[in-house]
Amino acid sequence: MIWPITNNFKTMNNKNLLERSLNAVWHPCTQMKQHETFPLVPIVRGKGVWLYDIEGRGYLDAISSWWVNLFGHTNAHINAAICDQLEKIEHVMLAGFTHEPVVSLSERLKQIAPGNLGHCFYASDGASAIEIALKMSFHYWLLNGQPQKNNFISLQNDYHGETLGALSVTDVAIFKKTYAPLLRPCTHMPTPDWRYAQNNDSAEEHALNAATALEDYLSKNHSETAALIIEPLVQGAMGMGMYHPIYLKRAREICDQYQVHLIADEIAVGFGRTGTMFACNQADIAPDFLCLSKGLSGGYLPLSVVMTPDDIFQAFYQDKTAHAFLHSHTHTGNALACRAALATLELFEQNQALESNKSKAEYLNKIAKPLATHPKVKNFRNCGMIWAFEVETNDADFPEKCFATGLTQKLLLRPLGNTIYFMPPYVINEQEMDLLVNGTLHVLNTLTANNR
Ligand SMILES: *Cc1c(COP(=O)(O)O)cnc(C)c1O
Repeated sequence: MIWPITNNFKTMNNKNLLERSLNAVWHPCTQMKQHETFPLVPIVRGKGVWLYDIEGRGYLDAISSWWVNLFGHTNAHINAAICDQLEKIEHVMLAGFTHEPVVSLSERLKQIAPGNLGHCFYASDGASAIEIALKMSFHYWLLNGQPQKNNFISLQNDYHGETLGALSVTDVAIFKKTYAPLLRPCTHMPTPDWRYAQNNDSAEEHALNAATALEDYLSKNHSETAALIIEPLVQGAMGMGMYHPIYLKRAREICDQYQVHLIADEIAVGFGRTGTMFACNQADIAPDFLCLSKGLSGGYLPLSVVMTPDDIFQAFYQDKTAHAFLHSHTHTGNALACRAALATLELFEQNQALESNKSKAEYLNKIAKPLATHPKVKNFRNCGMIWAFEVETNDADFPEKCFATGLTQKLLLRPLGNTIYFMPPYVINEQEMDLLVNGTLHVLNTLTANNR
C-alpha cells in the first residue's frame, strides 16, 4: 500500500531531492527500505511550531523535532544571539582556552540547577553526556580507593542513548539486543512507571514498591555499584512512561545511604518539560550528576553538559595529570551553541515560560477529553508539556501509518510503538492546540475504524 503523500510532490525537482537523499543520506533510526512506501518529507523552512515542506505545506511539529525545540523554529531572539556571536568567535577549543558564552552559561546553569551543581563539563550530544557521567562516577570511586565500585544500575525501560556505554545502561530491546555482545552488563531495577502497577496500586504506592526493590538490591550490591542512572519522572523512549516523584526522593535517600551516585538523565525532561525547570525539582532533590542536552540550546545546535557538585570536582583536583578527567569532545563548549543556550534561558524569563505552560497544559487537557475517553485509547496521561496515550491496535505498521496520516492532517506525529505522544514547543497557541487534538482524533479514527 502506498501512503498518502507519496505522490504529492508535483515537480520533478522535488522528487529528485527525495531520491538524492535516499541515495546519499543514511537516515537515523530508520529501516531505509521502508522509504519505498513511506516517503521522506523534505523541509525547507520553519517558523514557530510549524515546519514547511518544499511545496509550502505546513506541519505542526508536535514532537519538537525529537524533543529539542522549546521556543519555536527560527526564533527571532535566538537567531539574533547566534548572529551576534558569529561576528565575534564561532568556535575555539576549550582546553587551554575559554570564552564569555561558555562561562556565562555555566554560571547561569549553576543558578537554576537544583542543589549545588557548580561545575559544568560540556559535550555535543546526549549520549556523550551519559558517557561522561558514567566515566566520572567510576573514576571518582577509583580516586577514592574503591575501584570495585564499577557497576552501573538503571531502571527497567530506561533510555540513555546509543553509544556503547550509554546503550549498556539503556533497557530498550530494539536498540540493544543486536549489540548485546559489545555491551557491559547492567542490572535494571523495576520501573516506577504507573502503567506497570499491580493490584490497583496508586502511582505513589507503585513508585514506593519500586523504591523498595532498589533498596533491596543496593543493600546487597552497593559495594560494587558506582551509580544509579535514571530518567527522572518520564521514561521517554519506552513510550513516555510517567511516574510519581516520590520515587526520586526515595532513590536519593537510598543512594545516600549506600554511597552510590545518583545520575539524573534530564536530557529529555530538563528545561521545563515536566512543568518545573528540572524534573528533580518536583522531589526537591539534587543528583550527583545532572545530564542535560536536548532543550539546552533551544533545539538549535548540538550541545550537552554534565553538572556536578564540588566534592566530585575536588576529587579530580590534584597534582597528577592522570588523576584529571582526561576526556574530551572536539566541539566541547562551542561558542555558538552556548550563545543559543543563553538566549534560550533568557526566553524562559521573557516569556515566563513555566507559568504560561501551566495554562497551556490546562487548555490542552480540557480540549483533549475526546481523546482521553476515546474507546481505543488507554492510559491518557500528562506531565507538564508532555502528553501520551496508548492506542489499542494489532497493526505492526501503526507508527508509520500514524506518521503518514498525521501529515495529511498537518501534524508531525511520530508514535513510539502504539503510544502517541505530544511534546510541542512551548510557543504553541490555543488555535494550534485545537488543530493538534482534532487532527489526532481524525488520525485515530481513521486508523482504528477499519482495523487493518
Ligand atoms: C535523547 C536522549 C539521550 C541521548 O541523546 P542524544 O543526543 O540522542 O545522544 C539520552 N537520554 C535521554 C533521556 C534522551 O531522551
